[in-house]
Amino acid sequence: ESTRELLLSRIRDVADYPKPGVMFKDITPLLADPVAFTALTDALAELCVRHGATKIVGLEARGFILAAPVAVRAGLGFIPVRKAGKLPGATLGQAYELEYGTAEIEVHAEDLSADDRVMVIDDVLATGGTAGASLELIRRAGASVAGVSVLMELGFLAGREALAPHLRGAPLEAL
Ligand code: 5GP
Repeated sequence: ESTRELLLSRIRDVADYPKPGVMFKDITPLLADPVAFTALTDALAELCVRHGATKIVGLEARGFILAAPVAVRAGLGFIPVRKAGKLPGATLGQAYELEYGTAEIEVHAEDLSADDRVMVIDDVLATGGTAGASLELIRRAGASVAGVSVLMELGFLAGREALAPHLRGAPLEAL
């Protein structure tokens, strides 16, 4: 069984969540399987090393679950990018568009510096709005972007196209 097939087999489709008409990709069966979770962690850590990352950013909330073990595995620091109002220190914030309205994410300004090459990790790339905002935050903090690595990309939402201008040539990889 390839890693890709193993990971796919542990993702559950949940219809009409969080609202009617949406098919939600639920990763909790994957997290509950230590073989699959380890395979995912190893594959993401390998991408971080391959792309020369010096820090790992995880996107709240499921991105934290993946990015933390990846950071430990790769021997790199973990930095949380959180929804606005959750981080106690001095932050940089970045707003982005949702289907209805806007959202804002934040990072501790002192966590990133000009020496850093940052890999962004999340579970799912949907419209690309969250990941795109995180890349702007990383650059505004003075750091550079090593790439974006996700478990899964929902191709029909064209997140890859939306993310391209924010990536500026950095790699986007979906396992
Ligand atoms: P985007 O900003 O790309 O539209 O949305 C991505 C964010 O929404 C990610 O942080 C991801 O966790 C969450 N998300 C959107 N759709 C799904 C889904 O079907 N499954 C899971 N697990 N997360 C999703």
